[in-house]
Parts: sequence; C-alpha cells; structure tokens
Amino acid sequence: MKDCDVIVIGAGVAGLAAAGGIARDGWHVRVIEARDRVGGRVWTIRPRGWCEPVELGAAFVHGGNAALWAAMRRAKMATRRTPGKHWLGNVDGIEATNDLSRRIVGVTQRIDAQRMRGWSFARFLKTVAGDVSADDRMLTESFVEGFEAASLDEMSAASLAGESPDDAEQFIVPGGYDGLVQQLAEEAVGAGAEFELKEEVTDVRWRKGDVAVRLRGGDMRRARAVVVTLPIGVWHQGSVTFAPRLRAKERAAARIGNGQVVRLTLRLDVGRWRALRARGRAPAGRLGFGFIHSRIAGVPVWWSMTKTPVLTGWAGGPAASVLRGATDGEVRQRAEQSLATLLGVPVTALRGAVRGIKLHRWDRDPWSGGAYSFVRAGGEGAARALRAVVQETMFFAGEATAEGEEVGTVHGALGSGVRAAEEVRNVFMVNARGRRGR
Ligand SMILES: Cc1cc2nc3c(=O)[nH]c(=O)nc-3n(C[C@H](O)[C@H](O)[C@H](O)COP(=O)(O)OP(=O)(O)OC[C@H]3O[C@@H](n4cnc5c(N)ncnc54)[C@H](O)[C@@H]3O)c2cc1C
Repeated sequence: MKDCDVIVIGAGVAGLAAAGGIARDGWHVRVIEARDRVGGRVWTIRPRGWCEPVELGAAFVHGGNAALWAAMRRAKMATRRTPGKHWLGNVDGIEATNDLSRRIVGVTQRIDAQRMRGWSFARFLKTVAGDVSADDRMLTESFVEGFEAASLDEMSAASLAGESPDDAEQFIVPGGYDGLVQQLAEEAVGAGAEFELKEEVTDVRWRKGDVAVRLRGGDMRRARAVVVTLPIGVWHQGSVTFAPRLRAKERAAARIGNGQVVRLTLRLDVGRWRALRARGRAPAGRLGFGFIHSRIAGVPVWWSMTKTPVLTGWAGGPAASVLRGATDGEVRQRAEQSLATLLGVPVTALRGAVRGIKLHRWDRDPWSGGAYSFVRAGGEGAARALRAVVQETMFFAGEATAEGEEVGTVHGALGSGVRAAEEVRNVFMVNARGRRGR
C-alpha cells in the first residue's frame, strides 16, 4: 500500500519548493528530512546576547531570480544591498579597490568557453599569465577559491567565462534568511504536504511507479514517485543507496565538485573594537566596511555588513581544506590570527575583543558533506545528467542540479524544486489522462 503519491527526500529549499508545488497540484506529498529542522543549508540562529541573527549557511541573495524574490515578498522579508566596498589585504596593509568586478571580468572574459571546455581554471591562468597583472590574478584566484569554494585545479574554466561578483545584485537579509524557509514550509503544509523530521533515508528501492524508502530505524514508506534533493556531498558519500543502482547518476555526481567552506562569525566588544581601530588599520575605520579579500593563511576573507560589531570570516576551497582536520578551537585561533594580521593589531588584543563565535562545520555534517557544488573541469553538463528524470518515477532537485550562475545558490535550489514539481505534474497528468482514455 502506498503511504502517499510522492516522497520528497530532504527539506532544504529545493525540497520545500518541490513539496509545495506538488501538494498544490493536489497530490499527497510526504517530506522526509534527517535533521530536526527544515531549511538544510539555510540555517539562521539567534544566540542570546547577539544583536543580530547569525547565518551559519547561506547569507546573501544573489541575482535577480524572480521565484526567489517572489517568495521573499510573500514572506515580507526586508533586504538590504551589500555595501559595495572591497579591500585588498595582505601582511603589509589594506587598500581599497573600487573596480573589483571590472578587474575580475578582465580576466574571466578571456576564457573561450568552447575551446576551453574541460580545462581547469589553473590551466587557463597559465595561458594568460603574461597578460594579467599579479594583482588581478590574485583577485581572480581569491574570487574563484572563495566564491566557488573550489581549488583552481578542479574548477572548470569554461563555466567561469565572463563571471564576476556583482555588488549591484547582492543583498543581505537583516531579519534572517530563514524567513524564506518558514514561508516555503508554511506554504507546503498549507497545501497539504506532510513532514517527517529526524528521519534519515538509508535506501531507496524502486521500479516504475513504485518506490519504497527505508528509514534509519528500518521503517518503510511507499509512494508512486520520489523527489531526491540530496546535496552533492551526500551523493559522493554514497550514504543513500538505490536499488536498482542509478549508475548514470553516480557518474554525473562524480563529475560535480563538492565545494568546501569554513565560515565563522565573531561578535566583538564595541569599546574594544574602537580601541583596535585606533591602533591598527581597520578598513574605513568603522564597521560595515564591506569585504576584505586576501590570500593570507588561515581565514583569508572577512566582511562586515552592518554597523553592529559582528564580523564574518570565510575560508573557501583550498583554505577550507587546510582547516578540515582542525578542531573548532583551532579554527577560531587561526581565524583570530588571520584577522589580527589583516588589521595590523596584536592577536592578543583582538582575542580580548571577541565576545562570541559561531560556526558550523558543513564538511563534517553527514547530511551535507560540504558547502555547495561547483562545476568541475570536465564536468560541464553533469548537472543536466544528475537531474534527468528516470522512468517517470525518480525525480531530482537540489542546487547541484542547477546550471550557470544558479549552481551552489539558494535561488538555484529553489528553481530546481519548482522544476521537479513541474516534471511530476507532467508525468502524473499524462498518466491520469492515459488511464481515463482507456
Ligand atoms: C557556508 C555556506 C554559505 C552559503 N552562502 C550562500 C549565499 O550567500 N547565497 C546563496 O545563494 N547560497 C549560499 N549557500 C548555498 C545554499 O545554502 C545552498 O545552495 C542551498 O541552501 C541548498 O539547498 P538544497 O535544498 O539544494 O540543499 P539542502 O539545503 O542541503 O537540503 C537537502 C536536505 O536533505 C537532507 N538530507 C540529507 N541526507 C538525507 C537523508 N539521508 N535522509 C533525509 N534527509 C537528508 C539535509 O538534511 C537537508 O536538509 C551557502 C552554503 C553554505 C554551506
């Protein structure tokens, strides 16, 4: 006996969007989520004593994605453009840069997406070594490693053709990104979707029109179809098995990169921060300074988006891999050391100013196994293979199934969930018509 029409595995943004769409079409949906909360890699916390919500996962709204903005409007979420200030930092000092996007595009527009298909970004950089200034090269490397969370050897050059960070299109959500998650979850529940939290899926047995999903405790759930929204890190771990095996999906997943990020947020004492500013070279001299990009060891990128004494550190790609074996305490120490070096203040003084620290180790999280996906050299087109519907029964969503500038983003996840719901609709409607016609 079937428990429902469709099982959605995972209650991140993709799963919530898929469940809402399928339930609105009138089908009985059950979402199965391993965590004790919905939202997946969108995770806002509100620690006592902190003056603003802290994002442990996604923090920025990128781009003009219509579905994401529509959902945020329904949720009445206020957004604020990020301060478009960027600084270049190293051990000698920090200097403002006003043309970050132009400089990065100056490098990435040299990528010939056709000819360089399959090339790594490192290989591309070698071919333009003589034509690009050392500073622009550093900036572009820092952008690729930090933003794409990838190593230069792994990253696909073709996928970055003409790419740049676009400040005009980047926003923060002062009230917390989880407003989006709550909205999508309420809409799905309102449309009739059911949720089971703290239930990890271990294996999926399937044949056309019949899926049996086994939970960690051994219980089974049956449905006509399933939407799989597993993160790329979980695909790589192979912790959910499929019978019969989905070999084409395994091959596609192996061609998609699993980006690594260590992101941590520090809360500082206001008075001590003021004293540090006076002593060192805090950029612009006040909070809300924008982004500092550097290649410094430890945690190379830092930002401050508001006037409150909260700073976020970001180590992406190789920098995150270096921190992989470190304990939380060691990560904190290295982060403080990096920030002190950038600001030109003694690390003891900085440490004395820190009142709290928040981080989540996404690489050690069994239900994400990394931060977000990137296009690996030779992996162009793999997302399409990962999302292809199998036997009108197995549907696939999640940010790793998105393409172009949507890869690894919240709007990519949202769009993939909407797309999976449409695919289910198409299959179920054709089948229903076929049955009526007989
Ligand atoms: C540190 C960090 C910073 C980021 N910053 C940004 C940003 O600024 N802007 C942006 O757009 N994006 C950002 N992202 C990426 C963004 O968060 C993700 O692309 C998006 O949230 C992914 O949504 P999803 O639904 O595809 O996956 P997820 O949110 O990971 O959802 C998948 C769900 O499946 C569940 N699951 C896994 N295994 C099982 C299992 N066996 N059984 C049952 N359930 C399972 C997981 O618990 C999870 O809830 C960031 C991510 C990280 C980690």
